[in-house]
Order: sequence, then structure tokens, then C-alpha cells
Amino acid sequence: MWQAEVRVDLDAIRENVSRLRALTTAELMAVVKADGYGHGIVPAARAALDAGADWLGVCTLDEALALRAAGIDAPVLAWLLAPGLPLHTGVAADVDLGVASLPQLDETVEASRHAGRAARLHLKIDTGLSRGGATVADWPALLDAAAKAQADGLVEVVGVWSHFVYADLPGHPTIDRQLAVFHEGLAMVERAGLRPRYRHLANSAATLTRPDTHFDLVRPGLAVYGLSPVAGETYGLRPAMTARARVMLTKRIPAGTGVSYGHTYTTQGEANLAVVPLGYADGVPRHASNTGPVQLGGARRTIAGRVCMDQFMLDCGDDPVAAGDVATLFGDGSDGAPTADDWAEAAGTINYEIVTRFGSSRVPRVYDGE
Ligand SMILES: *Cc1c(COP(=O)(O)O)cnc(C)c1O
Repeated sequence: MWQAEVRVDLDAIRENVSRLRALTTAELMAVVKADGYGHGIVPAARAALDAGADWLGVCTLDEALALRAAGIDAPVLAWLLAPGLPLHTGVAADVDLGVASLPQLDETVEASRHAGRAARLHLKIDTGLSRGGATVADWPALLDAAAKAQADGLVEVVGVWSHFVYADLPGHPTIDRQLAVFHEGLAMVERAGLRPRYRHLANSAATLTRPDTHFDLVRPGLAVYGLSPVAGETYGLRPAMTARARVMLTKRIPAGTGVSYGHTYTTQGEANLAVVPLGYADGVPRHASNTGPVQLGGARRTIAGRVCMDQFMLDCGDDPVAAGDVATLFGDGSDGAPTADDWAEAAGTINYEIVTRFGSSRVPRVYDGE
């Protein structure tokens, strides 16, 4: 008997990766950062590899090492590396490292010495996001230093890459502008005498909509989990995560009754109130108070009042609901239940955040298709 669960359909992940695979001749890196966008890093990685992903992408060194500890030996790139990490453990574990500055390059050189082998690097250029990546101004110096370290046998420059600002809005002018900057950056790479095997730029949105950005490798994350980065388009992807809970308690309450903290909701008529044991500690956004959609007893309902830390309430009117009934917050949408997209809209956020929140909660994650 379960009280609340996050179900992850690994077959959906496999289907989504196959679909993405069919869109490109480039190699495919399934991005499994943030515990596989809340789906579980190791099961998500295995499902993606089953379906033809060539690479795995993560942010932290620990995420990369977790994949290796699970026995996964596919190529892995880790790109969010603050100073002072034991990068040599990544080098020894055959983890490729993202590098965007001279100090970072120095650290990888040190890590190579420590590990007794050349670190495999992906040099990142900032083409407009103003996040990770060397500025165009700093790029030539980084390339020269990397070329020298490579000539000295201390590192191997395997990749050159960047990341989009706004690929989820197809046609946005930043896309072409960033692509042009990336091409300039690649020309400088050649002038520095580097010939990296992988040039990569495309996230999910660009993988789905811009084949001219695929280069040698695409890096979809969101789409692997069946969610679309582009509003109003599904691209035939199938959401892999379902979040649901059993009603804990029902009771009949009078018209005019205030519900939950602050009484921001008041019953219009006499009502069957259902208490659902999921709250913001479990991933339900508190911003979904009075807006979050939930399927219960064959009908779509809206959260009544504030979302609490551990529970929320539904006003079911005169509908017969009972303790133990299943309330579905979101799933793949095929049964009329809401989707993570519906939740994102209700909570004023994006589908990325919804699944990531639910995955990193105390709710047990259960797998289908293992
Ligand atoms: C998260 C991330 C991705 C994947 O982005 P999606 O929009 O989820 O496809 C790709 N590249 C980098 C650098 C990222 O941080």
C-alpha cells in the first residue's frame, strides 16, 4: 500500500530518446543532471543508453562519479566545477570536464598530473547566455593555453561547446546570433591548431527545431523525460513522470468554511473535502495554492487554499470521494489527468522545475519498465 508516489516510466524515456535519435545524425548526450531532472540519475541514464544515447551529461563531479559508481562506462561530461574540487578523481574515472577559464584549465592540468593521465576537456565559449563559458574576448587565450597543455601531453581537447539563451522560442533572433558567434569561435579553435572531435551546442529545443545546430553532438535533457521545451508543441514526446497520492481523509464541511492556512479559500456550498498527503516538502509548489490542478474521482479539481508543507485540500462538492482514492497531480496526460506543463502554468514556472522538485522529495520513486 502506498500513500504517495512518483512513478517513472522508463519505457517513455527509451521512446523519447529513440525519437530524438531519429532526428539527428550527430551523437546524442542525454543530460541526466539534477538526479535525471528528478527521474533518478542512474535509471534514467541506463534507459537513455538502452535507447541509443552515446553520452551522458551532468553538472557536478559527484553526479559523474555516481554514474561511474553504478557501473556505467559511457562517455560522461561534467561541466559545473567550482575551484578546489578533486578533479583528479574525475580524470581517473574517465569523466570529461568542461573548462571555461584559465584557472579551470590549470586545475585540470594539475588533475592530470595527479591522476597520471591527460584530462579530457570540452572548452566552453559563451556565445550570449552570459553564464558558463569564456567570453569571445578571453577565448583565444584559453585556446592557446589549452593547445600548449595538449602539446605537452597534459590534456586532450575533446570538445568545444556552448549553450543557447532562447532556443525554446524558435525563430528568436538570439539563436542565429549565437550560432554565428559559435562559428567564429570554431574558426579561432582551428587557428589555435586544435581539432576537437566534438563541437556541440544544441539543447532539447535546438535538437527538436534546429538541425543546423547539431554539429557532432546534441545535448537534450528535458525532451528525454518527455517534456517539451516549446510551448504548445509535444513533438510526440511522452512524459515519463507521474505524481500521485491517496486521499488521507475526507469530511463533509458546511458552506462558508475557510480552508487551510490563512483561509484563502472558502467553500461556496456544503462540500466533501479531501485531504491529500503531499505538500511543498514533497515538491508541490506553494505557488500552486488555489491554482494547482488535480485529477480525483474522474474529475479535474483545483487545490483549495494554501498548499501546506505536507498536505493540501480539494473541494469535491457533492462528488463521492473516499479516503484511499487516488489523486493524480500530473502524468502523461493520456488519461485526462493534468500534466507537468499544466502545473508549470498553475504555479508560474516551467515544466523543468515541476519534475525536478517532485523527484527530489521524500516521496518514493517507483519505476515501470525496468
Ligand atoms: C541542462 C543543460 C542542457 C539540457 O537542456 P534542456 O533544455 O533540458 O534540453 C544542455 N546543456 C547544458 C549546458 C545544460 O546546462
